[in-house]
Parts: sequence; C-alpha cells; structure tokens
Amino acid sequence: MHGLTPYVPGEQPKLTNLVKLNTNENPYGPSPKVLEALRAEAADTLRLYPDPNSDRLKSAIARHHGLQPAQVFVGNGSDEVLAHTFQALLKHDLPLLFPDITYSFYPVYCGLYGIHYETVPLNAHFEINIDDYLRPNGGIIFPNPNAPTGIPLPKADIVRLLEANAASVVVVDEAYVDFGTESVVSLVDRFPNLLVTHTLSKARSLAGLRVGYAVGHPALIEALIRVKDSFNSYPLDRFAEAGAVAAMEDQNHFEQTCKQVMDTRNALTAAMQAMGFQVLPSGANFVFACHPDHEGADLAAQLRTQNIIVRHFRSPMRIAPYLRITIGTAGENQQLIGALQKIIGV
Ligand code: PMP
Repeated sequence: MHGLTPYVPGEQPKLTNLVKLNTNENPYGPSPKVLEALRAEAADTLRLYPDPNSDRLKSAIARHHGLQPAQVFVGNGSDEVLAHTFQALLKHDLPLLFPDITYSFYPVYCGLYGIHYETVPLNAHFEINIDDYLRPNGGIIFPNPNAPTGIPLPKADIVRLLEANAASVVVVDEAYVDFGTESVVSLVDRFPNLLVTHTLSKARSLAGLRVGYAVGHPALIEALIRVKDSFNSYPLDRFAEAGAVAAMEDQNHFEQTCKQVMDTRNALTAAMQAMGFQVLPSGANFVFACHPDHEGADLAAQLRTQNIIVRHFRSPMRIAPYLRITIGTAGENQQLIGALQKIIGV
C-alpha cells in the first residue's frame, strides 16, 4: 500500500465567510422536495437496513432517461461507481486510454487495481482528438465535458469512437453534462460497450448526499453489481435513496438551477474576457481560464486573500497558468469579478 498515490480532493475549508469556488459544487440548494423526503426518512425505520439494490432509485433514474432499471447501476457518489467500473470493466492486457489532462482520480484507480494505462495528449486547443484513440486498447475513459478544461466533445465524435472500437468498453463520465453538453445516454441501446456515468453532486445539488450512477447494457451493469456485492451490500443508505429519488423526479428545479448556472457562466466568461483572460469554451459548471500577464498560482493566492477560493493545479505544466473556477451565485460572481478587476488593475 506504500506505493499508492491517493487522489487529493479540493479543500473543504472550515471558515464560513469564504466564497467557495473550488470544488464544482452547485451554488443553489437541492430541490425542496429532496429536503422533505429526507425529513420523512428520519424515522424509526432507520433501525432497518436500506434496500441493497436501491430499486426505487434505479426505477426513477431509468424513467428519467427512458431506459430499463436493468440498465442502471447506483453507488455512493460517482467516484464509487467509477472505482467499481475500473475494477470490473477496465482491467485488461492492453492499456486503458484516457487524456493526459483529465479527472485526476483515473490514474489513482489504475494504481489501486493494478491497471495498465496510457495517457493520450489533448491537442493544442486542449481538446480530445478522437483519432488519437483509434488504436488497440483495453478500454477508454474520459469525462464529457472534460475536467478540468470544461470543453465538451460533440456526440458525433463519440459515435465515431464507438463504431471504431466495438471490442472494448468505452466509459463516458458525464459528471458535468447537464450544464450545456450533449449527453450520450441515448446511445446505450445501440452500443453494448458504452457505459455512461452520472452524479447527483453537481446538477442535482447533492454533493453532500453521495449518490452517483452508471447506465449501460445489462451485461455491463451485472459486472458492476458483482463487484459492488463483493464490497458493500448497502452503499446507499435510506437518506441517500429517498433524497436521490426526489431529486430525479423534480425536473423543474433541475432545469431552472442548471439554466441559472449556465447564464452566470456566460456572464463570467464575458467579464473575464474583457479583462484579458483566455477562457476555454465550457459545457460545465466551471470555467478554465488563464491571463497572459499573471501566473495561475499567484492569481489563486491573491483571490484567497480576498476570501475567494478557486482551484489551481501545479501539474501538468501545461495547465499551471490556468485557474478552474466554479460558477457561483450571481452575487458571488460579482464578488469574483470585482476581486479579479482589482488584481488585474482594470
Ligand atoms: N467525475 C468527474 C469528472 C469529477 O470531476 C467528479 C467530482 N470530483 C466526479 C466524477 C465524482 O463526483 P461524485 O463522486 O461526487 O459523484
């Protein structure tokens, strides 16, 4: 175990007066119906184990996407769903492929499960180039939109990848898809090698509840269930299942809050561009941006002195100039813009 390099999550500061734009949480609360469902769950029934199969939630997710419950797997956050996916579906003799700049948990799972992998460089515009993945592989995984760049990959490119790659599993991690990126969930009936993962942490405002899921062919789902049942019979507690069902069923709250986040993202992008920032096109609830005259680490440190925290990655070198900024409320956005104007001097 000494050889393991664990994932390092963004800071969860204990100070309460901070504008927290560092871990891509939703600035708006969950649906009031979720809170109601959680209150109803605080009852004597807590002495009983929850449903080990979370059938009610699988049905709600299947209904939302127009799928069958047998095409749905649920877990304790999509990190757990991804962990089981790496173990159950992505360990082969040929290397697993993923971008060089991507969700930094992927190489950690490879280390944990002894999975051979190769990283594929993003192009000069920080985009995934599908042609680079058209070679023998033991599986492919990437987020769409990618993280931390936020750049979405068009559905047509993913179709091309799936058509050329029938022999291995392709996992599309759609953690941020609901903020303006086209989902490929509708392709799971057509491509039995496609697994799509989602989280309720972002667009459903439930990072604190820890619920994620995967959809795909029942054979892929069965493999995930075998791993899950060899690890933890009850990854979702009674609160998680009840809250998640209510969240999946409140389409209005979901659409409204996603739209607010996207509107604020567009306003932030325009304001930052006016200050000279280069902002990558984002289909996520964050932007990835750099300024030609200011270092990323320095900007992050200066924002911190004004009680605003954003995420800065020191490596790989190519992204060291950039900041990853979560979209906050309209008010937090104004605070951020004011702080940046002071630092940049415009
Ligand atoms: N995938 C990506 C690309 C992410 O950025 C995150 C959030 N850190 C996750 C998956 C995991 O999210 P959660 O475990 O909260 O569902």
